[in-house]
Parts: sequence; C-alpha cells; structure tokens
Amino acid sequence: MTGLSAIELEDVVKEYHSHGEVVQAVKGVTLDIAEGEFFSLLGPSGCGKTTTMRMIAGFEAPSKGLVRLHGQDVTNVPPNRRDVNMVFQSYALFPHMSVWDNVAFGLKQRRTPQEEIGRRVGEMLEIVDLAGREKRMPRELSGGQQQRVALARALVNRPRALLLDEPLGALDLKLRQAMQIELKRIQREVGITFVYVTHDQNEALTMSDRIAVMNDGLVEQLAGPREIYERPATPFVAGFIGTSNLLAGSANGGELKIGGGRVLVPGHDGEVTVTVRPEKITIGTEEPGQGLSAVRGTVTEVVYLGTYTSYAVDLAARGETIITVFQQNVHDATATAERGDSVWLSWQAQHSYVIGS
Ligand code: ATP
Repeated sequence: MTGLSAIELEDVVKEYHSHGEVVQAVKGVTLDIAEGEFFSLLGPSGCGKTTTMRMIAGFEAPSKGLVRLHGQDVTNVPPNRRDVNMVFQSYALFPHMSVWDNVAFGLKQRRTPQEEIGRRVGEMLEIVDLAGREKRMPRELSGGQQQRVALARALVNRPRALLLDEPLGALDLKLRQAMQIELKRIQREVGITFVYVTHDQNEALTMSDRIAVMNDGLVEQLAGPREIYERPATPFVAGFIGTSNLLAGSANGGELKIGGGRVLVPGHDGEVTVTVRPEKITIGTEEPGQGLSAVRGTVTEVVYLGTYTSYAVDLAARGETIITVFQQNVHDATATAERGDSVWLSWQAQHSYVIGS
C-alpha cells in the first residue's frame, strides 16, 4: 500500500424508483481505499454492497455524492473510461476460446503488438498458476481454474483497480478456501487495488487489509480484520462477524451483575452492552477465583465439532441469555459438561469488550 487514495466515495447515496416507491439501496457511504489495498465490502444480502461496487465501476450513477478514482472525479464518467476492471461470480469466459485466447482477448482488441501479448499472457498465466494449460477449453477446467482464467483476463489489461463481486460464490468450501489464499497471493504479487464484495465473514477476515461492514445501506464499521473481530463497533457487527454473546446491563464500579455472577468491565459505569467471544470463555463446574468474569448457567446444548466443542449455556439472566462457548479439544475429546449440567463460565477482564468504547 502506498497510502495514496485509489478509490474515494464521498457521502454516496443510491436511490431506485421501483413500483412507485423509492428504495434507498445505499444511504450515504464514505470510503477511502488506498492504492494497493485489499479492501472488502462485507454484509448480509441486500445491505447495498453490490450497488456500492457498481457505482465504483460506473455501472450505476449515484443519486448523490462523489466517486473519485486516483484523485479524479469520475462520478459521471462511463465504465469503459474508468481504469478499473470487474470480475463476477459467473466467470463469463468465452466457451469456444482456449484459456490463452480468453486471456489474450482484451489485448487483441486493443491491437497490442503480438509479441507483447505473448509476454503478458504468459506472465499472467504463470501468476494464476495455469501455465501449461493454455490450450484447454473452459469446459475442460475445474471451477477454481475457470475463476483463475477470469482473473487473469481481468488483470492482463493492468487496471489500476480490480473489483470482484462474490467471485468465489460458486465454488465448494474447500476450493473456496484454497482460492482465498491464492487471491491474496496474486493481489500481493500484482500490487493492484482489490475491492472485494462478499457476505462471507471468514472470507473477508482471511484476505482483507481492511473491511467495511455494511448493514442496511450504511457502513457500520471500517477497520482491519482483527479490530473488527476484537472490537466490534456495534451489536450488528459483533453478531455478523462470529458469535456475539451480548450481555447488557448497568455497570457499577466496573462490574456488571448478571444472575449469580459478575462481568468485569474495568473503567465503565452505567448502561453497557458487552460482547465476549466464545473461544475466550472457559467452562467448568468449580467457582472461578476473583479477578475473572464469572457467570452461572445451565448447559442446553453440546456439539462436538472436531477441533473444538461448542456449548450453549443459558444464564437465565433478564429472561433468557444463551452464551456460546468454544472449547478446544486439545488432549482428549471428553466433554467438560453435559446437557442439563449447572456450570460456571469465566473469562479474563480484557476479553469483555464494551461495544462502542
Ligand atoms: P446481495 O448480497 O444479495 O447481492 P447486496 O448487499 O449486494 O445483496 P444490493 O444488490 O446492493 O445488495 O441491493 C441493495 C438494495 O437495493 C436491496 O434492497 C435491493 O432490493 C435494492 N435494489 C438493488 N437494485 C435495485 C434496482 N435496480 N431497483 C430497485 N431496487 C434495487
């Protein structure tokens, strides 16, 4: 990353008029994406991430606000005159053309000299790990290979930014995970700004330098993966990225009384909402010592998941509060507690994160 701005959105709004109603797909988004950054737009279906992406590409014009690419106002510039390229979930390869011809297509159209085409296509196929498969037809490739051809075809034109809309959506989980690592490597190698649209939290956490978490047409948090996970800005972000385990109440002297226990929130007083991640919690039958957050509950579910076991524990505080706990199955896989057991949950003070603090 150079620190220079590749893509800036300034208070961008997109309204659609549909059946006599106005739908606000994007309600005022401001973003500053740095050159060379791997940036993700993450959020549930319908939150406005594709619309935001399409305004960057120029397929949609904003109803309000500004779009800048590399410092230039492109709000009213058509897509073909913006120095960006887009890759879609459906790879849209030319079925009757070989891998080589698919990748070379754009360069031929621009009448690039033959020798340069040869060099650039060869280089690009090397980068996406498809050297040796130049003569194959798209139907003779796996989904992941087809996606890499689509990527090579977009990158060979050397756009300054590449926009990717759920490009791995059609792949099965294993292949998708492998491709996430591949995409990150390719992005690092070519040094081009990537803007990546996904609804998959793990995908965004794996690949991104920064993530904008969107909800209902707005960005709720914009930060790096660790920050988003460890310090979610809103209850929505806490719940969308992993399990939120929200505990709410009135803190007194840095302590929140919950059921038969306490949640330590050093330095906080008054109404707070706390999130604590499932892997930070220890489950046991003994009452934990002072200096830890400790709450009582009843186990309602135990699910063995291989590397860890997931427990649901009902604190019966303020109606019903179910807390999820992940316990690593390190030495043996015998469950610490059974359904119906009365247990203590404990965690260190620094693992209670007060939302919005
Ligand atoms: P998904 O992950 O399902 O693609 P998304 O986050 O990309 O969702 P958008 O496609 O940006 O969401 O849509 C945001 C909202 O705008 C949705 O409520 C959608 O129904 C609405 N919308 C999108 N395009 C149009 C359109 N052309 N006309 C009317 N409403 C639209």
